Amino acid sequence: MAAEPQLKFYNTLTREKVDFQPIDRNNVRMYVCGPTVYDFAHIGNARPAIVFDVLFRLLRHVYGESRVTYVRNITDVDDKINARALRDHPGLPLNDAIRLVTEKTERQYREDTTALGCLEPSAQPRATENIAQMIAIIETLIAKGHAYRAAGEVLFDTKSMADYGQLSKRNLDEQQAGIRVAVDEHKKSPGDFVLWKLSDENEPGWESPWGRGRPGWHIECSAMSGRYLGDVFDIHGGGLDLIFPHHENEIAQSRCAHGTHAMANVWMHNGFVQVEGRKMSKSEGNFVTIHELLQTDKLGGRTWPGDVLRLAMLMTHYREPIDFSVKRLEEAERLIAKWPAADVSGAAPDETVLAALGDDLNTVAAIQALHALAQAANADARLLSVFAASADLLGLLPKKAEIDEAVAAEIDAKVRQRLELLKAKNFAEADKLREELTARGVQLKDGKDAATGERITTWEIKR
Ligand SMILES: [Zn+2]
Repeated sequence: MAAEPQLKFYNTLTREKVDFQPIDRNNVRMYVCGPTVYDFAHIGNARPAIVFDVLFRLLRHVYGESRVTYVRNITDVDDKINARALRDHPGLPLNDAIRLVTEKTERQYREDTTALGCLEPSAQPRATENIAQMIAIIETLIAKGHAYRAAGEVLFDTKSMADYGQLSKRNLDEQQAGIRVAVDEHKKSPGDFVLWKLSDENEPGWESPWGRGRPGWHIECSAMSGRYLGDVFDIHGGGLDLIFPHHENEIAQSRCAHGTHAMANVWMHNGFVQVEGRKMSKSEGNFVTIHELLQTDKLGGRTWPGDVLRLAMLMTHYREPIDFSVKRLEEAERLIAKWPAADVSGAAPDETVLAALGDDLNTVAAIQALHALAQAANADARLLSVFAASADLLGLLPKKAEIDEAVAAEIDAKVRQRLELLKAKNFAEADKLREELTARGVQLKDGKDAATGERITTWEIKR
């Protein structure tokens, strides 16, 4: 077996690329902030799902499938969820309405991420199933002097932590300068944030030592990562927009509660997503959900297959901003149409692809190497198994599709027609037919019959 590659990842905490050393190589642990389930996930949400799925696949390859634990939470308590429940189900008791909204959205999220080729994480805990763990952490923080009660809330005391702000590299004075008007007079410092707040009878709530209430957002991730991965774990991921305040506050809560030097050793963040060169927003009219891309003609007047969306996302390095455009999707589609369908057979992946991914998830270089390998495998079937293993590492393995007989007969007829055109040296028309078939996912392979020397063409379909 080949030597295990030394993985290197850019750590937001230290602002440098470092060699990755797992705390326990028999259980490599990563946590990624998951969706707040009140609406369809947009393509900005698709990026961390895809990027950290590639990381999950890489870690499983290097350390072993059963030796990686990937936790992605589901935020199912949030004021946006309450508002959506009241709007969509006005006649129902609030808890029932909330359950309808969160269950539907959670199901949709799973369908979307599956269509994007993402593996299921090892665990997908819900916030509402971890309230007891949140209350326990808040009690510890109060007991250790890191949290206080004021005006119906429990707040984290940012001044109580000497090195608060180490992830976002903001000091407290800078943060305060950025906060407008002191509306929150009950806070000791403007940067103090909510751990628990009281609920009225129209809001969801749980009994706690501080009265019936609900948790703040940040405490959820401290509770769920601690429960599933321990006080200190290997990798914490999420979008760039989560660095401050969300991740900063997760670190503050977890470290102060557990008395540790770190919450996670490596912090990885993916860049922003734009659509057709502009920031995505509902008012701009360029707000696109994963569901719309897969099922409707919202972008480019057509639907897009999940593997094309995934490849388009991975054609930019995860830390760079990405511009999601029809042009980029078409480029991804043209590329993947040239790749052979294959099955994973236990072969080792290509070393160039593996080395590129091990170098801070350089998917751009990995895809270049994979494309070269695809072309080589098209010419030499012995390379198919290496191609399959490499493509699978990126979650981009084209699958052989099941096709019905009528479609197969129609394709056969077109392939024969093209052979006749080639025989008649009508190359322009023959190319047109090939393009038409390629656009439908049909891949042609020209060759010669060994016995007769006659030109033959075989074909396969990929989606
Ligand atoms: Zn989080």
